[in-house]
Amino acid sequence: MPRLSLTAPEVATTTAAITTSLTTACANLSTATNPFSALATAYGSAAAASAGITVTALAGTDADARRAANAARATLRNAFDAVWTDPDVYAVLLAATDTPPADEEEARFRSSALALMLRLGAGLTGEHRLAAKDLQEKISAMTSQFDANLNGDTTAVEFSIAELDGVPDSLLPLLESRGDDRYAVPLKRPTLTPTLQHAKSSATRKALYRAANCQCLAENGPLVDDILAARAALATALGFDSHAHLKTSAETVRKPDAVYALMDSVAKGAKPKFEAEISALVELKATLIADGGLVADDDAEPAAVHPWDLSLLLREHKKRAFAVDDEQVKAYFEVSAVIAGVLALYEHVFGLAFERVADAPLAWHPDVAQPTHRHFFLDLYPRDGKYSHQCVVPLQPSFFDAVAGSQRLPSAVIMGNMTKPTPSAPALLRFFEVHTFVHEFGHIVHALCSRARFPLFSWAWSIVPWATGCGVEMDFLEVPSQALENWVYQPAVLARLGAHHVTGDPLPEDTVTALVAARHVAPGIRYTRQIAISAIDLIMHSGGPPFVYPPWGIAAHSVEDLVAQVYAHLGLPPPLPSTNFVASLFHFTSYSATYHSYLVSEVASADCFTLFAHNPLDQAQGSRFRELILAPGATVDATAMLAAFLARPVSVDAFFDSVGFTSSDSG
Ligand SMILES: [Zn+2]
Repeated sequence: MPRLSLTAPEVATTTAAITTSLTTACANLSTATNPFSALATAYGSAAAASAGITVTALAGTDADARRAANAARATLRNAFDAVWTDPDVYAVLLAATDTPPADEEEARFRSSALALMLRLGAGLTGEHRLAAKDLQEKISAMTSQFDANLNGDTTAVEFSIAELDGVPDSLLPLLESRGDDRYAVPLKRPTLTPTLQHAKSSATRKALYRAANCQCLAENGPLVDDILAARAALATALGFDSHAHLKTSAETVRKPDAVYALMDSVAKGAKPKFEAEISALVELKATLIADGGLVADDDAEPAAVHPWDLSLLLREHKKRAFAVDDEQVKAYFEVSAVIAGVLALYEHVFGLAFERVADAPLAWHPDVAQPTHRHFFLDLYPRDGKYSHQCVVPLQPSFFDAVAGSQRLPSAVIMGNMTKPTPSAPALLRFFEVHTFVHEFGHIVHALCSRARFPLFSWAWSIVPWATGCGVEMDFLEVPSQALENWVYQPAVLARLGAHHVTGDPLPEDTVTALVAARHVAPGIRYTRQIAISAIDLIMHSGGPPFVYPPWGIAAHSVEDLVAQVYAHLGLPPPLPSTNFVASLFHFTSYSATYHSYLVSEVASADCFTLFAHNPLDQAQGSRFRELILAPGATVDATAMLAAFLARPVSVDAFFDSVGFTSSDSG
């Protein structure tokens, strides 16, 4: 394990050393006895060596080093990518397929690496290669511009304090004060969402909704059209029917048709619940208008639910239907008890043993727990300058090091932002923090259980510069963690994670029931909206304009028109004319044609947990899960892993049961 805390000068020397090691490995590949094995070893070693850069960028304690490491990440990303876009490397690897592979895993690595290179254009020659490269560069520049426009947007919508009636006082300091009791609401999630949830005035919410759906439209609207055209041209140049075909080819779904079939089945299953929920919201709206909780000013159709009503109505609905007192629940989840409980839970069910290395040298900050065998670190608490979300970062991939002649063991870290205890007061976690920690620790166990002998098959995602997208399929990456999230809704498990921090009592039964009930608020509306975005994403990346999907009767002349037609097909309240949320959809650049991976993962993860339904602590199923789902990494297709674990193909039934949808078939 290399040192993980670097100074700014060390960032520079490490980056240069990694870049040189990769270019040297590529240049010498033609003289290697086994080019695939040589490339895998060089790539895995470079990946492991880059851990210090990633950790310093995300969590370093020195601001200069952090800045240097963040800049170095882009350089490293290009250096790792250059391996897979190099036509000379492709030619050497292709020639090496004349000799038989050592075993099944090497055979899979060979085909995965070559398929990855074909997707990136390394197999093209002459003017075809130049044309593809030109398109790749244009797409890269345009998507960066799209993101920069979005990140740099400072639009805020101004209202008088009267127009903001209903918004909690605690939100006002986050708004921009414009004097004379006037405030501007920035179109960022922490201010936009609560204002839409609380402002009583329909006119206020409608104005805000319109602004949010026009955000960056002038700059990003034309960019969306140009990016779609360039992605389509590149997909054609690479031999795919469309960008959607190219992207799904590396997912468990393999083809857009499989996604359409799933979306159709879930949309139909959700329909009765969706319609009942909309009717309930119509009634709730009338009640709120009558008692002054909602003011239908500028509302030509007060009897209908508009898109700008949804946030407020869903919040009210949740408050009325599922009363869970967050503060009361917190008292049962003291942070150190939760951490110990979650680790013990994973040890018990999966037959693992975690051992704290008490006298290991300091990692990068005193808060960070020290490594054990297959190393993991817990960097759980917020600090100035640290990564501000929650995630797991792989540090060293699992791979066979042909130079050292030994297997390198995987390691990973949780970058968390949990509530931190102080010497005088315990830290009490909100329920969602417990939920998140169980989820993130699932990624740790997934990463650490890997037995992959090729670094591409180890658990990784785009937070590290060496992730290629041809490892664990993107629509499977979250499945194990999502499946294990179900634990926090099982009384037997909750009893192991928390007790009242003063009395030691277990969480009361009725609180557990309320937490389970509050898990899915208006799932019909939630999943219908998710399907709408997935469908828009897939259809617009399948060719056109016109953007067509005949089974839904869709033929749209523009993205704006496509949004309106998909909403109409699914029965969602229509968007306002001359708006287009795609212009401010951050997934447009990072998740192109794969937004559906959320839905695909949820269906598979609900199904996986069915084998724990009778006993969430079942060790026999735990060891099967470890063996069949976690340990293979990407050495087996996820669809095959799931079929082996379930002893049948994945079905939507468990997902439907969990959210109360009706199944017309078991497709
Ligand atoms: Zn996750």
